[in-house]
Amino acid sequence: MSVPTPSRPVALVTGGSRGIGRAVVNRLAEEGYDIAFVYRANSDAARAVLDEVGDKGVSVVCRKLDVTDFEQVQEFVRHVEQTVGPITTVVNSAGIVKDSPLALMDNQDWHDVIQVNLTGLYNISRSVIRGFMRRRSGSLVTVSSVVGVYGNFAQTNYAASKAGMIGFTKSFAKEIGRYGARANVVAPGLIETDMSSALSAEHTENILSGVTLGRPGTAEEVAELVAFLASDRSSYITGQVFQIDGGATL
Ligand code: NAP
Repeated sequence: MSVPTPSRPVALVTGGSRGIGRAVVNRLAEEGYDIAFVYRANSDAARAVLDEVGDKGVSVVCRKLDVTDFEQVQEFVRHVEQTVGPITTVVNSAGIVKDSPLALMDNQDWHDVIQVNLTGLYNISRSVIRGFMRRRSGSLVTVSSVVGVYGNFAQTNYAASKAGMIGFTKSFAKEIGRYGARANVVAPGLIETDMSSALSAEHTENILSGVTLGRPGTAEEVAELVAFLASDRSSYITGQVFQIDGGATL
């Protein structure tokens, strides 16, 4: 099958159906990217995003798949490159939490969080890196967390996955730099999404008491930073971690 000549950059966003990923999809579509996104279960949310992006005049494809499944990820990357065009940008936003103090942690909860957050990043990056090298361009943006930098109570699994994502992305940046491609990390603090709305009101208040700006961030604020890092506007920035946390870690 012949590969179409791209008229627009193509962004692949994992977890693009909700929260930060959804805001990234919309933001990149507004900047003129064709969009491919994946989600795991919630097809209603994915359909809503398809409608939103459809109104913006760019191409959009989505697939219900589990980022922990290497074959599925690789097949979707192939499909996107054949039907939409070469992937120029990858934003890895798919993620889960399964919080518990370590002394009480279920082994499966450890495994699941590492698999989705960290192995998912491996699967997607491994599937696109040769294209980045061949075309001597590309940008990977990894959505980690301040928890991956500082750790957090009852989040050993999540913190380990998010710290691993930082190490992975810096190493990816070193491998890909000579090929003219880049990789960076955004590390959000508390952002208003379904994930953070699962926290108790008391826990949320406790986190906010330490946030300099005194409020949670929005997914759109994170998307703004992601869009900058995805684009040539950040052409001399690679291997960096950008905290977007309202001053929570000052
Ligand atoms: P969210 O609202 O819960 O959305 C998660 C997205 O990931 C959904 O689209 C979900 O699809 C998808 N997903 C989950 N597991 C998947 C899998 N195995 N395969 C494919 N897709 C999968 O989360 P969010 O708050 O936007 O978080 C996005 C990223 O930011 C995560 O990596 C999270 O760790 C990070 N982060 C969030 C915050 C925060 O306060 N919200 C703070 C720091 C970092 P379905 O809906 O179909 O399941």
